[in-house]
Amino acid sequence: MPLAGKIVGIDPGHNGRNFADPAYIDAQIWNGRESEDCDTTGTETDGGYTEALFNFQVATFLRADLVHDGASVVMTRASNDGVGPCVTSRAQIINGGHANVAVDIHADGGPPSGRGFAILEPVADGPNDAVITSSEQFGADIRQALLSGTAMPVSTYDGDQGITHRDDLAGLNLATEPKVLIECGNMRNATDAALLTSTAFQGQVARALEAAIIRFLS
Ligand code: ZN
Repeated sequence: MPLAGKIVGIDPGHNGRNFADPAYIDAQIWNGRESEDCDTTGTETDGGYTEALFNFQVATFLRADLVHDGASVVMTRASNDGVGPCVTSRAQIINGGHANVAVDIHADGGPPSGRGFAILEPVADGPNDAVITSSEQFGADIRQALLSGTAMPVSTYDGDQGITHRDDLAGLNLATEPKVLIECGNMRNATDAALLTSTAFQGQVARALEAAIIRFLS
């Protein structure tokens, strides 16, 4: 039980019915540095496989893996059939759950010619000041685990060798535990989309994240 006594936060980005309630998701929230939409619909593949579903699939696999390892898991949504919650609430759910580490799971809607995963890391903004260095270490652990455990390369268009820093996201600005946001691939690229829509790949991403979490917390 390598994660006995540990608490892990998982935020599967967006939600399956966000498109149905624009008034809710377009409301403005304060992300710690500026105003931001409560949430967004997320992207999808050219074939119509939604990012919200991909994120929830990976989160569900990851939760099972972590529970098997003895961890307690805090998730920000329990299904892919709802709306929201707002990105501020997602951060508060994980902070309030006293997570030892947390990950925001997403996939990108990038240029069709671009491939690969990117790890978005926090920039010191006040609430997250104490977790910048630890988040960078966690991001490095995830980068290595994704490269060794999946067929997804580092992004060809976002960041430097798969790592980028972002100060415009509530999930990173408001985090009080080590946390990164992963764009697991580019849903608008045909090669990446074939991976992202595969249950086998989704399970591989979950296992890579599990390995990175164990490494980081050990
Ligand atoms: Zn997203």
